[in-house]
Amino acid sequence: MATRVGETSAVSRAMMEEEVKKIVLNHFHAVYVDRDISSSMEHISQKIRWIGSKDFYIAHSKEEFRQMLERELGSLPGRCAIEVMAAEGVMLTEDCFTVSGEFDIRIPHPLQLVYQRMRFTAMLVLENGEYMVVSLQTSISSDDKIKYETKTMNGDSMKMLADDLRRQNQYDPVTGLYTLEAFKQVVEDVLKKEPDSRFVMLCTDVTHYEQVNNLYGLKRADKMLSDLSVLLTTFSQNVRVSCRSIADHFLVLMTYMDRELLEEELRKLCSEFRNTISEEYIEAAPRLGVGAYAITNLNEDIDSIVERTNMTRKALKLNHGIEVVFYDARIFKRIEKMNEIESSMQGALENGEFKVFIQPKYSLTDNQIVGAEALCRWIHDDGSMVYPDEFIPVFEEDGFIAELDFYMLEQVCRMLKRREEEGRKCVAVSINQSRVLLQDTQYVSKIAAILKRYEIPSEYIELELTERIFQDDLTGFARMMGELKKHGIRWSIDDFGTGYSSLNLLKELPVDILKIDKSFLDETETSEMSKIIIRKTVELAQELDKYVVCEGVETESQADYLRNIRCDMAQGYLYSQPLPMQDFEQLLDEEMAV
Ligand code: C2E
Ligand code: CA
Ligand code: CA
Repeated sequence: MATRVGETSAVSRAMMEEEVKKIVLNHFHAVYVDRDISSSMEHISQKIRWIGSKDFYIAHSKEEFRQMLERELGSLPGRCAIEVMAAEGVMLTEDCFTVSGEFDIRIPHPLQLVYQRMRFTAMLVLENGEYMVVSLQTSISSDDKIKYETKTMNGDSMKMLADDLRRQNQYDPVTGLYTLEAFKQVVEDVLKKEPDSRFVMLCTDVTHYEQVNNLYGLKRADKMLSDLSVLLTTFSQNVRVSCRSIADHFLVLMTYMDRELLEEELRKLCSEFRNTISEEYIEAAPRLGVGAYAITNLNEDIDSIVERTNMTRKALKLNHGIEVVFYDARIFKRIEKMNEIESSMQGALENGEFKVFIQPKYSLTDNQIVGAEALCRWIHDDGSMVYPDEFIPVFEEDGFIAELDFYMLEQVCRMLKRREEEGRKCVAVSINQSRVLLQDTQYVSKIAAILKRYEIPSEYIELELTERIFQDDLTGFARMMGELKKHGIRWSIDDFGTGYSSLNLLKELPVDILKIDKSFLDETETSEMSKIIIRKTVELAQELDKYVVCEGVETESQADYLRNIRCDMAQGYLYSQPLPMQDFEQLLDEEMAV
């Protein structure tokens, strides 16, 4: 028996109103965003009458309506975005509803933001158990005034806010999205107005964005950002507001039902980027990564939400190759640490918190100190010590390592100069050089200038390059190394044997010293193979007139083995840990005194 309107409970009435509202909004989404006319027809009644106000069109049937839509889509350049809609469903009788509302269609346009405001009223009637649209009136304004129109339309305050923003020109000229400041205001409002929805904020990162800029120029790079902004506002119906915060980083606020579905949606977003936008920049091969922060406390301060989302995005860098990362407290700790390091490193350098530790290298024939390696330690004001594994990777990422490496070289030169003047024993000290350093076109002249300033015999300075930094084309490296050799610098290849073409390095580069990686030594107790590799490397080096150092020597038996195969030098805990500079100097003095 049919129930009367008055008998329907308020709850089920609200649910039904939600349901019909969804039907209508899905229809628009299918048309403008997915450009999928057949699925947009799902809830359109055969008997529909449609009135469009633009040039006053009327369609008298589903077929006519379909033709109208096809024509309209043909005139649009591509997928459009629908920005926050406002709609309301009203039950007239149990089997008849109206839905009215409005939204903005954002039309992709590379240079300019183009919005069209769509207003609509639909009537739905129950046909064979399903709600079908029997009448639809739409009105689109393409008036110029609308171009920079408001995008979020929930009530008057929203309109005023949007008008304000428009006046202040708070739109990003490249993508037409809000600026960060405007975005934050809108998000605050949306969160307040919809306390029952689950929200997540996303922050994007395009890998190789720099290369896109370098290889394709600014205009093409801007086009990529503009295309990405369209993708980001259209990939899901749940997207509410978005902005570009800086460079290739977009922030998106969206709702979600459950975490798994959301994850799937985000993964699809990244693969769509790969299959469409990325294809236009094949040489740079950009990839989209997304950091997602689920907002669990709607009262959380907007700056903190944005900050955490941004941090989550940074976690993409900690997990190479991963496209979607969700906020979690552990990653957060690591990133916080990374941020802490980045924000304090410059000050630490100026305060002298980076200390040169020195680990001696011993001759295997007479157990004398014949060389040393400078290794960096970060000692905080409170005396706590940080090891290079923690900060070097961060410095390499942001380029600060170049400053640190020059600083280390200067400190070592200063020490050697002082000792020389005081007539104390000196040995060659090696300094690790990072890859970033070598990319500096002024590298050779900067090193030469430091050597000149301290006027120490250059045979005391040895530079270590780890084998992992070399690439296929060695000619540039060979030239640079050759030039510095003219200034007396000696080159040593660190971690020898861990790269993929060690022998090629020997052939192409003017190397003086090989440092056999400690991983080979770790295995000598167990692996005959490692022993053979060490022995053969030593033989090879001798025949090529190069010195060999073995690092990580921890036991007498390892030292014995190395002595037997006539390895030149050993470095490791068996002899000494890396020491504070003063302690190292004392050790050197004591040795001379004996
Ligand atoms: P590396 O250049 O291979 O340095 C050798 C590392 O082995 C040092 O670690 C040293 O303390 C450690 N070591 C020495 N003897 C032994 C031993 O007998 N057993 C074991 N297990 N380890 C031993 P450290 O000082 O923690 O440095 C780690 C890495 O950080 C270095 O590896 C180097 O790549 C980098 N690094 C350190 N200081 C600098 C710097 O000033 N500039 C640059 N670019 N990199 C640096
Ligand atoms: Ca080294
Ligand atoms: Ca090494």
